[in-house]
Amino acid sequence: MKRAGVIINSQRQYDSLSQYPYIFNFYKEFPQEEIGITEFETFALDRLNLLKDIENASLSSNGKSLVENSKLYELMKKYLPLNTIGDGAKMSLEDLFYQRRKDYLSHYILKLAYCSTEQLRIWFIKQESDLFRLRWHRCKDQNMKKEFIKSLNLNMTELSGEEKEELKEELLETSYLDNNFKNKDQYIQAFESDTYYKIPFEQVTDLVQQRKIYIKGGVAYLPSKEQISLLLNQYKENLNKSMEKMSQNLTKKEDDERIDPLIINLSQQYVEDDYILSNGNDIKYQEIPGLVRYFPLCMKNLHEHLTFDNHLRHGGRMQYGLFLKGIGVSMDESLKFWRKMFNKMTDDQFQKGYAYNIRHSYGKEGKRTNYSPYSCSKIIMGNAPSTGDHHGCPFRHASLDTLTKMLRKSNIKENHVTEICNYAKEHHYQLACTKMLEYVSGINNEYLENINHPNRYFDQCYPNSEYNKNKKLNSTNQQDKQMDDLMDSSY
Ligand code: SF4
Repeated sequence: MKRAGVIINSQRQYDSLSQYPYIFNFYKEFPQEEIGITEFETFALDRLNLLKDIENASLSSNGKSLVENSKLYELMKKYLPLNTIGDGAKMSLEDLFYQRRKDYLSHYILKLAYCSTEQLRIWFIKQESDLFRLRWHRCKDQNMKKEFIKSLNLNMTELSGEEKEELKEELLETSYLDNNFKNKDQYIQAFESDTYYKIPFEQVTDLVQQRKIYIKGGVAYLPSKEQISLLLNQYKENLNKSMEKMSQNLTKKEDDERIDPLIINLSQQYVEDDYILSNGNDIKYQEIPGLVRYFPLCMKNLHEHLTFDNHLRHGGRMQYGLFLKGIGVSMDESLKFWRKMFNKMTDDQFQKGYAYNIRHSYGKEGKRTNYSPYSCSKIIMGNAPSTGDHHGCPFRHASLDTLTKMLRKSNIKENHVTEICNYAKEHHYQLACTKMLEYVSGINNEYLENINHPNRYFDQCYPNSEYNKNKKLNSTNQQDKQMDDLMDSSY
Protein backbone atom coordinates (compact mmCIF):
# COMPACT_ATOMS: atom_id res chain seq x y z
CA MET A 1 0.00 0.00 0.00
CA LYS A 2 1.26 3.48 -0.83
CA ARG A 3 0.42 6.69 0.88
CA ALA A 4 2.02 10.04 0.05
CA GLY A 5 5.08 8.42 -1.46
CA VAL A 6 5.55 5.94 1.38
CA ILE A 7 5.62 2.23 0.96
CA ILE A 8 3.63 0.80 3.80
CA ASN A 9 3.85 -2.80 4.75
CA SER A 10 0.67 -4.34 3.31
CA GLN A 11 0.16 -6.53 6.37
CA ARG A 12 -0.15 -3.51 8.65
CA GLN A 13 -3.33 -3.46 10.67
CA TYR A 14 -4.04 0.08 11.65
CA ASP A 15 -7.58 -0.78 12.65
CA SER A 16 -6.26 -1.94 16.03
CA LEU A 17 -3.58 0.75 16.58
CA SER A 18 -1.51 -2.10 17.98
CA GLN A 19 1.73 -0.62 16.66
CA TYR A 20 1.16 2.72 18.42
CA PRO A 21 -1.31 2.07 21.25
CA TYR A 22 -0.60 5.33 23.14
CA ILE A 23 0.05 8.94 22.30
CA PHE A 24 3.07 8.73 24.63
CA ASN A 25 6.22 6.98 23.62
CA PHE A 26 9.73 6.20 24.78
CA TYR A 27 10.56 5.38 21.12
CA LYS A 28 12.56 2.31 22.05
CA GLU A 29 12.41 0.37 18.78
CA PHE A 30 14.17 1.62 15.66
CA PRO A 31 11.44 1.99 12.98
CA GLN A 32 11.56 -0.73 10.34
CA GLU A 33 9.77 0.73 7.38
CA GLU A 34 10.35 2.65 4.21
CA ILE A 35 9.57 6.32 3.93
CA GLY A 36 9.62 8.66 0.92
CA ILE A 37 12.17 11.44 0.86
CA THR A 38 9.53 14.22 0.81
CA GLU A 39 7.74 12.77 3.80
CA PHE A 40 11.08 12.28 5.55
CA GLU A 41 11.82 15.98 5.22
CA THR A 42 8.32 17.22 6.04
CA PHE A 43 8.09 15.10 9.17
CA ALA A 44 11.47 16.27 10.38
CA LEU A 45 10.83 19.96 9.71
CA ASP A 46 7.44 19.88 11.41
CA ARG A 47 8.92 18.37 14.55
CA LEU A 48 11.89 20.72 14.44
CA ASN A 49 9.61 23.76 14.17
CA LEU A 50 7.64 22.56 17.15
CA LEU A 51 10.76 21.92 19.22
CA LYS A 52 12.11 25.37 18.36
CA ASP A 53 8.81 26.97 19.39
CA ILE A 54 8.92 25.05 22.65
CA GLU A 55 12.46 26.28 23.25
CA ASN A 56 11.46 29.89 22.53
CA ALA A 57 8.49 29.63 24.87
CA SER A 58 10.74 28.19 27.54
CA LEU A 59 13.30 31.00 27.13
CA SER A 60 10.65 33.67 27.49
CA SER A 61 8.61 31.96 30.20
CA ASN A 62 10.13 33.96 33.06
CA GLY A 63 9.80 31.06 35.45
CA LYS A 64 6.17 30.28 34.52
CA SER A 65 5.43 26.63 33.84
CA LEU A 66 5.32 25.71 30.15
CA VAL A 67 2.13 23.71 30.62
CA GLU A 68 0.27 26.98 31.26
CA ASN A 69 1.17 28.31 27.82
CA SER A 70 -1.94 27.68 25.70
CA LYS A 71 -0.18 28.82 22.52
CA LEU A 72 2.02 25.74 22.69
CA TYR A 73 -0.99 23.42 22.52
CA GLU A 74 -2.08 25.18 19.33
CA LEU A 75 1.38 24.63 17.87
CA MET A 76 1.31 20.96 18.86
CA LYS A 77 -1.98 20.65 17.01
CA LYS A 78 -0.49 22.36 13.98
CA TYR A 79 2.77 20.42 13.66
CA LEU A 80 2.25 17.07 15.37
CA PRO A 81 -1.41 16.51 16.25
CA LEU A 82 -2.06 13.46 18.42
CA ASN A 83 -5.69 12.66 19.04
CA THR A 84 -7.18 9.90 21.13
CA ILE A 85 -10.31 7.85 20.64
CA GLY A 86 -13.21 9.67 22.26
CA ASP A 87 -11.53 13.07 22.64
CA GLY A 88 -14.27 14.68 20.55
CA ALA A 89 -12.23 15.06 17.34
CA LYS A 90 -13.99 12.04 15.79
CA MET A 91 -10.96 10.83 13.88
CA SER A 92 -10.85 7.50 12.09
CA LEU A 93 -8.48 4.82 13.33
CA GLU A 94 -6.51 5.21 10.14
CA ASP A 95 -5.97 8.92 10.82
CA LEU A 96 -4.97 8.25 14.42
CA PHE A 97 -2.52 5.66 13.14
CA TYR A 98 -0.90 8.13 10.73
CA GLN A 99 -0.66 10.83 13.39
CA ARG A 100 1.20 8.45 15.70
CA ARG A 101 3.36 7.15 12.90
CA LYS A 102 4.42 10.70 12.01
CA ASP A 103 5.27 11.32 15.65
CA TYR A 104 7.36 8.15 15.83
CA LEU A 105 9.25 8.61 12.58
CA SER A 106 9.88 12.34 13.02
CA HIS A 107 11.36 11.63 16.45
CA TYR A 108 13.79 9.14 14.92
CA ILE A 109 14.79 11.36 12.02
CA LEU A 110 15.69 14.23 14.36
CA LYS A 111 17.39 11.84 16.73
CA LEU A 112 19.62 10.83 13.84
CA ALA A 113 20.36 14.46 13.03
CA TYR A 114 20.97 15.50 16.64
CA CYS A 115 22.95 12.58 18.04
CA SER A 116 26.36 13.49 16.69
CA THR A 117 27.59 15.91 19.38
CA GLU A 118 26.93 16.31 23.08
CA GLN A 119 25.68 19.84 22.59
CA LEU A 120 23.12 18.78 19.99
CA ARG A 121 22.02 15.88 22.19
CA ILE A 122 21.51 18.17 25.20
CA TRP A 123 19.36 20.50 23.12
CA PHE A 124 17.26 17.71 21.62
CA ILE A 125 16.68 15.90 24.93
CA LYS A 126 15.65 19.13 26.66
CA GLN A 127 13.05 20.03 24.01
CA GLU A 128 11.76 16.45 23.67
CA SER A 129 11.28 16.20 27.43
CA ASP A 130 9.31 19.44 27.43
CA LEU A 131 7.16 18.09 24.59
CA PHE A 132 6.54 14.91 26.58
CA ARG A 133 5.52 16.95 29.64
CA LEU A 134 3.13 19.08 27.58
CA ARG A 135 1.48 16.00 26.08
CA TRP A 136 1.14 14.38 29.47
CA HIS A 137 -0.44 17.47 30.94
CA ARG A 138 -2.82 17.89 28.00
CA CYS A 139 -4.06 14.28 27.89
CA LYS A 140 -7.23 13.71 29.87
CA ASP A 141 -7.40 9.97 29.12
CA GLN A 142 -6.33 8.65 32.56
CA ASN A 143 -6.76 5.08 31.41
CA MET A 144 -4.26 5.53 28.59
CA LYS A 145 -1.79 7.09 31.03
CA LYS A 146 -2.15 4.14 33.40
CA GLU A 147 -1.75 1.60 30.60
CA PHE A 148 1.29 3.41 29.23
CA ILE A 149 3.01 3.43 32.61
CA LYS A 150 2.21 -0.25 33.00
CA SER A 151 3.77 -0.99 29.61
CA LEU A 152 7.08 0.52 30.77
CA ASN A 153 7.51 -2.11 33.48
CA LEU A 154 8.88 0.40 35.92
CA ASN A 155 9.86 -0.81 39.33
CA MET A 156 6.71 0.60 40.91
CA THR A 157 3.81 -0.84 42.94
CA GLU A 158 0.51 0.74 43.83
CA LEU A 159 -0.02 1.48 47.51
CA SER A 160 -2.92 -0.48 49.03
CA GLY A 161 -5.78 1.30 50.84
CA GLU A 162 -4.58 0.06 54.23
CA GLU A 163 -0.98 1.18 53.65
CA LYS A 164 -2.18 4.59 52.54
CA GLU A 165 -4.33 4.97 55.65
CA GLU A 166 -1.44 3.92 57.84
CA LEU A 167 0.88 6.56 56.36
CA LYS A 168 -1.81 9.21 55.97
CA GLU A 169 -0.23 11.79 58.26
CA GLU A 170 3.26 11.54 56.74
CA LEU A 171 1.96 11.57 53.17
CA LEU A 172 -0.26 14.57 53.82
CA GLU A 173 2.67 16.49 55.24
CA THR A 174 4.81 16.15 52.14
CA SER A 175 2.77 15.53 49.00
CA TYR A 176 0.54 18.59 48.75
CA LEU A 177 2.72 21.34 50.12
CA ASP A 178 2.82 23.36 46.92
CA ASN A 179 -0.91 23.24 46.21
CA ASN A 180 -3.21 26.10 47.13
CA PHE A 181 -6.22 24.46 48.69
CA LYS A 182 -9.04 26.69 49.88
CA ASN A 183 -9.56 24.70 53.08
CA LYS A 184 -8.53 21.57 54.92
CA ASP A 185 -11.47 19.51 53.58
CA GLN A 186 -10.41 20.13 50.02
CA TYR A 187 -6.88 19.13 50.96
CA ILE A 188 -8.04 15.85 52.52
CA GLN A 189 -10.37 15.16 49.60
CA ALA A 190 -7.53 15.47 47.07
CA PHE A 191 -5.45 13.08 49.15
CA GLU A 192 -8.24 10.50 49.47
CA SER A 193 -8.88 10.38 45.71
CA ASP A 194 -5.19 10.18 44.77
CA THR A 195 -3.31 6.96 44.00
CA TYR A 196 0.16 6.47 45.50
CA TYR A 197 3.02 4.31 44.24
CA LYS A 198 6.06 2.83 45.93
CA ILE A 199 9.35 3.18 44.05
CA PRO A 200 13.08 3.07 44.89
CA PHE A 201 13.95 6.63 45.94
CA GLU A 202 16.96 6.81 43.54
CA GLN A 203 14.51 7.05 40.66
CA VAL A 204 13.14 10.40 41.83
CA THR A 205 16.10 12.17 43.37
CA ASP A 206 14.84 15.52 42.06
CA LEU A 207 11.62 15.17 44.06
CA VAL A 208 13.57 13.99 47.08
CA GLN A 209 15.78 17.09 46.93
CA GLN A 210 12.72 19.30 46.67
CA ARG A 211 11.19 17.45 49.67
CA LYS A 212 8.09 16.79 47.64
CA ILE A 213 7.64 13.14 48.59
CA TYR A 214 7.71 10.98 51.64
CA ILE A 215 10.57 8.44 51.99
CA LYS A 216 10.84 5.51 54.34
CA GLY A 217 13.47 2.75 54.27
CA GLY A 218 14.74 3.65 50.78
CA VAL A 219 11.22 3.64 49.35
CA ALA A 220 9.65 6.80 47.92
CA TYR A 221 5.87 7.22 48.07
CA LEU A 222 4.90 8.90 44.85
CA PRO A 223 1.48 10.54 44.37
CA SER A 224 0.07 10.21 40.84
CA LYS A 225 0.46 13.95 40.17
CA GLU A 226 4.24 13.54 40.51
CA GLN A 227 4.45 10.55 38.19
CA ILE A 228 5.55 12.83 35.38
CA SER A 229 8.86 13.45 37.20
CA LEU A 230 9.57 9.75 37.27
CA LEU A 231 8.61 9.35 33.62
CA LEU A 232 10.74 12.28 32.52
CA ASN A 233 13.77 11.01 34.41
CA GLN A 234 13.42 7.64 32.71
CA TYR A 235 12.70 9.18 29.34
CA LYS A 236 15.77 11.44 29.43
CA GLU A 237 18.00 8.60 30.56
CA ASN A 238 16.76 6.31 27.77
CA LEU A 239 17.04 9.01 25.17
CA ASN A 240 20.55 9.93 26.19
CA LYS A 241 21.72 6.31 26.09
CA SER A 242 20.13 5.56 22.74
CA MET A 243 21.49 8.77 21.18
CA GLU A 244 25.01 8.03 22.38
CA LYS A 245 24.76 4.58 20.86
CA MET A 246 23.36 5.99 17.67
CA SER A 247 26.21 8.46 17.42
CA GLN A 248 28.78 5.63 17.74
CA ASN A 249 27.00 3.65 15.01
CA LEU A 250 26.80 6.72 12.81
CA THR A 251 30.55 6.66 12.28
CA LYS A 252 30.34 3.04 11.06
CA LYS A 253 27.37 3.50 8.76
CA GLU A 254 27.62 3.60 4.98
CA ASP A 255 27.07 6.95 3.30
CA ASP A 256 23.69 7.60 1.76
CA GLU A 257 23.88 10.47 -0.68
CA ARG A 258 20.13 11.23 -0.48
CA ILE A 259 19.77 11.17 3.29
CA ASP A 260 23.12 12.52 4.54
CA PRO A 261 22.72 16.10 3.23
CA LEU A 262 19.22 16.22 4.72
CA ILE A 263 20.45 15.05 8.10
CA ILE A 264 23.32 17.57 8.13
CA ASN A 265 20.99 20.31 7.03
CA LEU A 266 18.54 19.49 9.81
CA SER A 267 21.06 19.88 12.61
CA GLN A 268 22.30 23.08 10.98
CA GLN A 269 18.77 24.47 10.99
CA TYR A 270 19.34 24.81 14.68
CA VAL A 271 22.91 26.00 14.26
CA GLU A 272 22.30 28.60 11.59
CA ASP A 273 20.26 31.67 12.27
CA ASP A 274 21.14 34.16 9.60
CA TYR A 275 21.30 37.78 10.60
CA ILE A 276 20.02 40.21 8.03
CA LEU A 277 22.76 42.77 7.61
CA SER A 278 21.64 46.27 8.40
CA ASN A 279 22.49 48.98 5.89
CA GLY A 280 21.55 51.78 8.21
CA ASN A 281 24.50 52.11 10.59
CA ASP A 282 27.71 53.68 9.41
CA ILE A 283 30.23 53.15 12.14
CA LYS A 284 33.70 54.64 11.92
CA TYR A 285 36.60 52.59 13.21
CA GLN A 286 37.46 55.15 15.90
CA GLU A 287 33.96 54.76 17.39
CA ILE A 288 34.30 51.02 18.05
CA PRO A 289 36.00 51.18 21.52
CA GLY A 290 33.24 53.52 22.72
CA LEU A 291 30.58 51.02 21.63
CA VAL A 292 32.05 47.98 23.38
CA ARG A 293 29.80 48.48 26.42
CA TYR A 294 26.83 47.66 24.17
CA PHE A 295 28.43 44.42 22.95
CA PRO A 296 27.47 40.96 24.22
CA LEU A 297 29.93 39.22 26.50
CA CYS A 298 31.49 37.10 23.73
CA MET A 299 32.42 40.20 21.72
CA LYS A 300 33.48 42.25 24.77
CA ASN A 301 35.85 39.43 25.59
CA LEU A 302 37.31 39.38 22.07
CA HIS A 303 37.74 43.14 22.03
CA GLU A 304 39.48 43.08 25.37
CA HIS A 305 41.98 40.42 24.28
CA LEU A 306 42.56 42.17 20.97
CA THR A 307 43.36 45.42 22.81
CA PHE A 308 45.63 43.68 25.29
CA ASP A 309 47.53 41.32 22.93
CA ASN A 310 47.30 43.39 19.72
CA HIS A 311 46.38 40.15 18.07
CA LEU A 312 43.58 37.57 17.75
CA ARG A 313 43.76 34.09 16.28
CA HIS A 314 41.72 33.12 13.23
CA GLY A 315 38.59 31.90 15.12
CA GLY A 316 38.41 35.13 17.11
CA ARG A 317 39.06 37.33 14.07
CA MET A 318 36.25 35.66 12.15
CA GLN A 319 33.77 35.85 15.03
CA TYR A 320 34.57 39.46 15.93
CA GLY A 321 35.19 40.71 12.37
CA LEU A 322 31.83 39.49 11.08
CA PHE A 323 30.07 40.89 14.16
CA LEU A 324 31.58 44.31 13.44
CA LYS A 325 30.46 44.01 9.84
CA GLY A 326 26.95 43.25 11.17
CA ILE A 327 26.80 46.37 13.35
CA GLY A 328 27.58 48.55 10.34
CA VAL A 329 31.39 48.81 10.04
CA SER A 330 32.19 49.01 6.31
CA MET A 331 35.07 47.07 4.75
CA ASP A 332 37.31 50.15 4.55
CA GLU A 333 36.66 51.05 8.17
CA SER A 334 37.25 47.44 9.16
CA LEU A 335 40.63 47.40 7.42
CA LYS A 336 41.61 50.58 9.28
CA PHE A 337 40.39 49.13 12.59
CA TRP A 338 42.32 45.85 12.34
CA ARG A 339 45.43 47.65 11.09
CA LYS A 340 45.33 49.95 14.11
CA MET A 341 44.79 47.07 16.54
CA PHE A 342 47.52 44.86 14.98
CA ASN A 343 50.07 47.59 15.58
CA LYS A 344 52.99 45.31 16.40
CA MET A 345 53.39 44.13 12.79
CA THR A 346 54.62 45.90 9.68
CA ASP A 347 52.27 47.17 7.03
CA ASP A 348 53.57 44.53 4.67
CA GLN A 349 52.84 41.73 7.16
CA PHE A 350 49.32 43.05 7.70
CA GLN A 351 48.57 43.32 3.99
CA LYS A 352 49.89 39.83 3.23
CA GLY A 353 48.53 37.99 6.25
CA TYR A 354 45.28 39.69 7.20
CA ALA A 355 43.90 42.29 4.78
CA TYR A 356 42.95 39.61 2.23
CA ASN A 357 40.83 37.74 4.80
CA ILE A 358 39.02 40.91 5.80
CA ARG A 359 38.18 41.73 2.18
CA HIS A 360 37.20 38.07 1.71
CA SER A 361 34.67 38.20 4.55
CA TYR A 362 33.07 41.23 2.88
CA GLY A 363 32.73 39.25 -0.36
CA LYS A 364 35.42 41.17 -2.24
CA GLU A 365 37.89 38.31 -2.73
CA GLY A 366 37.80 34.61 -3.65
CA LYS A 367 34.31 33.17 -4.12
CA ARG A 368 32.89 36.62 -3.35
CA THR A 369 30.48 35.27 -0.76
CA ASN A 370 28.98 37.96 1.44
CA TYR A 371 29.43 36.20 4.79
CA SER A 372 26.91 36.74 7.60
CA PRO A 373 27.86 37.29 11.24
CA TYR A 374 27.84 34.12 13.36
CA SER A 375 24.70 33.24 15.28
CA CYS A 376 24.74 32.23 18.95
CA SER A 377 24.05 28.60 18.05
CA LYS A 378 26.98 28.53 15.68
CA ILE A 379 29.27 30.06 18.30
CA ILE A 380 27.97 27.89 21.12
CA MET A 381 28.23 24.66 19.19
CA GLY A 382 31.31 25.45 17.16
CA ASN A 383 34.85 24.41 18.10
CA ALA A 384 35.56 25.15 21.73
CA PRO A 385 38.45 27.61 22.23
CA SER A 386 41.76 26.04 23.21
CA THR A 387 44.66 27.77 25.00
CA GLY A 388 45.40 31.12 23.34
CA ASP A 389 41.99 31.24 21.62
CA HIS A 390 39.33 33.71 22.71
CA HIS A 391 36.43 32.89 20.42
CA GLY A 392 33.28 31.09 21.63
CA CYS A 393 30.52 31.99 24.06
CA PRO A 394 31.66 32.73 27.64
CA PHE A 395 28.37 31.35 29.02
CA ARG A 396 29.19 28.05 27.35
CA HIS A 397 32.97 27.93 27.26
CA ALA A 398 34.35 29.96 30.20
CA SER A 399 34.82 28.44 33.65
CA LEU A 400 32.40 29.65 36.30
CA ASP A 401 35.17 31.66 37.94
CA THR A 402 36.10 33.45 34.74
CA LEU A 403 32.46 34.06 33.86
CA THR A 404 31.82 35.57 37.28
CA LYS A 405 34.79 37.93 36.86
CA MET A 406 33.65 38.95 33.38
CA LEU A 407 30.14 39.73 34.61
CA ARG A 408 31.42 41.76 37.56
CA LYS A 409 33.56 43.79 35.15
CA SER A 410 30.36 44.67 33.28
CA ASN A 411 29.10 46.27 36.53
CA ILE A 412 26.39 43.69 37.11
CA LYS A 413 25.14 43.48 40.71
CA GLU A 414 26.28 40.49 42.73
CA ASN A 415 22.83 38.86 43.04
CA HIS A 416 22.33 39.21 39.28
CA VAL A 417 25.77 37.70 38.63
CA THR A 418 24.68 34.63 40.62
CA GLU A 419 21.37 34.45 38.74
CA ILE A 420 23.10 34.65 35.33
CA CYS A 421 25.72 32.06 36.32
CA ASN A 422 22.93 29.71 37.42
CA TYR A 423 21.35 29.90 33.98
CA ALA A 424 24.72 29.17 32.40
CA LYS A 425 25.26 26.21 34.76
CA GLU A 426 21.95 24.76 33.63
CA HIS A 427 23.03 25.10 29.97
CA HIS A 428 20.63 28.00 29.28
CA TYR A 429 23.39 30.06 27.66
CA GLN A 430 21.16 32.32 25.58
CA LEU A 431 18.82 32.92 28.48
CA ALA A 432 21.84 33.90 30.59
CA CYS A 433 22.81 36.32 27.84
CA THR A 434 19.27 37.78 27.64
CA LYS A 435 19.34 38.29 31.42
CA MET A 436 22.68 40.06 31.10
CA LEU A 437 21.21 42.35 28.45
CA GLU A 438 18.29 43.11 30.77
CA TYR A 439 20.60 44.17 33.62
CA VAL A 440 23.13 46.01 31.47
CA SER A 441 20.58 47.98 29.45
CA GLY A 442 17.99 48.47 32.19
CA ILE A 443 15.29 47.58 29.65
CA ASN A 444 12.36 45.67 31.12
CA ASN A 445 12.48 42.05 29.89
CA GLU A 446 8.93 42.40 28.53
CA TYR A 447 10.37 44.56 25.78
CA LEU A 448 13.38 42.39 25.01
CA GLU A 449 13.72 39.70 22.38
CA ASN A 450 15.53 36.57 23.47
CA ILE A 451 19.11 36.53 22.31
CA ASN A 452 19.83 34.14 19.46
CA HIS A 453 22.38 36.32 17.74
CA PRO A 454 25.17 38.56 19.08
CA ASN A 455 24.11 41.31 16.66
CA ARG A 456 20.57 41.18 18.03
CA TYR A 457 22.06 41.84 21.44
CA PHE A 458 23.81 44.96 20.11
CA ASP A 459 20.69 46.07 18.21
CA GLN A 460 18.68 46.05 21.40
CA CYS A 461 21.36 47.41 23.71
CA TYR A 462 22.70 50.32 21.61
CA PRO A 463 20.20 53.18 21.84
CA ASN A 464 21.16 54.58 18.39
CA SER A 465 20.94 51.31 16.49
CA GLU A 466 18.76 51.11 13.38
CA TYR A 467 16.66 48.56 15.25
CA ASN A 468 15.92 50.97 18.11
CA LYS A 469 15.38 53.92 15.76
CA ASN A 470 12.80 51.89 13.80
CA LYS A 471 11.18 50.75 17.01
CA LYS A 472 10.81 54.36 18.16
CA LEU A 473 9.50 55.40 14.75
CA ASN A 474 6.90 52.62 14.78
CA SER A 475 5.70 53.50 18.24
CA THR A 476 5.51 57.24 17.31
CA ASN A 477 3.53 56.34 14.21
CA GLN A 478 1.24 54.24 16.32
CA GLN A 479 0.78 57.05 18.83
CA ASP A 480 0.08 59.52 15.97
CA LYS A 481 -2.49 57.13 14.56
CA GLN A 482 -4.17 56.75 17.94
CA MET A 483 -4.24 60.53 18.28
CA ASP A 484 -5.72 60.90 14.78
CA ASP A 485 -8.38 58.30 15.60
CA LEU A 486 -9.18 60.16 18.80
CA MET A 487 -9.48 63.48 16.98
CA ASP A 488 -11.68 61.89 14.28
CA SER A 489 -13.98 60.37 16.84
CA SER A 490 -14.40 63.69 18.67
CA TYR A 491 -15.87 65.45 15.63
S1 SF4 B 1 24.70 33.83 24.00
FE1 SF4 B 1 25.27 34.51 21.96
S2 SF4 B 1 25.53 36.72 22.11
FE2 SF4 B 1 25.50 35.92 24.17
S3 SF4 B 1 27.64 35.66 24.68
FE3 SF4 B 1 26.91 33.69 23.90
S4 SF4 B 1 27.32 33.72 21.72
FE4 SF4 B 1 27.52 35.81 22.47
